[in-house]
Amino acid sequence: MITVLTGGTGGAKFVDGLRQIVAGEELTVIVNTADDLLWWGLYVSPDVDSITYILAGKLSQERGWGVKGDTFYCLQAMGQLGQPIWFHAGDRDLATHILRSKLLSDGKTLTEVTAEISGRLGVKARILPMSNSRVETRIGTPIGELSFEEYFVQRWYQDPVESVRFAGASDAEPAPGVMEAIRNSEVVLLAPSNPVTSIAPILAVPGIREALRESRARIAAVSPIVGDAAVSGPAGILMQSQGCEVSIAGVAEYYRDFLDLLVVDTRDAAAAEGLRRSGMRVHGTPSIMRTNDDRVALAQAVLKAALQSPAASDHS
Ligand code: GDP
Repeated sequence: MITVLTGGTGGAKFVDGLRQIVAGEELTVIVNTADDLLWWGLYVSPDVDSITYILAGKLSQERGWGVKGDTFYCLQAMGQLGQPIWFHAGDRDLATHILRSKLLSDGKTLTEVTAEISGRLGVKARILPMSNSRVETRIGTPIGELSFEEYFVQRWYQDPVESVRFAGASDAEPAPGVMEAIRNSEVVLLAPSNPVTSIAPILAVPGIREALRESRARIAAVSPIVGDAAVSGPAGILMQSQGCEVSIAGVAEYYRDFLDLLVVDTRDAAAAEGLRRSGMRVHGTPSIMRTNDDRVALAQAVLKAALQSPAASDHS
């Protein structure tokens, strides 16, 4: 069994590589839900959607979100009706949000709804939302607190970041299957996802970080930082706002208490040497996923390096 913790962009590309080398039945993907939002009255779970679509072969590769070949007639019509249209939902994508909202209002949990939608789209891997409790990333800025989507999509991450918090996390519980997947997997992988707003919310759900510390799985993370910057998006800005160095060493700090191996880009060879001296096991490999071959090669390299790293009987 292989379990992956992920967000929805770098994480989706990495999961795409893994799905091509691991049988679906052996793959569990634990997904950040702290970016979830109500949009036009519908429950949207952006990272769960991206992971579902990539595993179903439906993610738009050009856009990196939403459904391949989708149309945007509803969005246009909503604009004409005076509704906000900064969050782009395509017509086929909306079907997912409508069905999710309907099933939630019927009383199903996000876990059940996710399983139903992914099953209907032919996904064999198990997609688990991190929690069925509402956890919400709140970004503190000079104009007030923003949700992650307001900060990232609506305002193009231009606002200075004063704080980041995960509202609801302390009362949240891991969703069914999450703790068992971490405890019983041979390998747990942290995708090259934003450490501050994709992986940290998962780790903030009480019990998950402890389960990683106690797990006998080999645990490896792929760095979303190459050199002194994120490959894309606001991870660098957000790490800096937390007083964290924007480097592979900064990434290592987020996961040091449970990580067996950090996978970094070959360009970070010198920084990797420094990190090894601090006691961290580090593996270098090309980690920029431009093509499908890049994704598969990275997934293969990470899995191989993780399996070769010494089994940790206890991470604490
Ligand atoms: P989000 O939910 O949209 O924030 O997506 P993720 O958290 O899964 O992914 C965002 C992170 O992916 C960013 O910090 C990027 O630096 C990282 N990323 C994107 N593409 C690549 C890539 O090709 N290689 C690596 N190593 N990281 C990537």
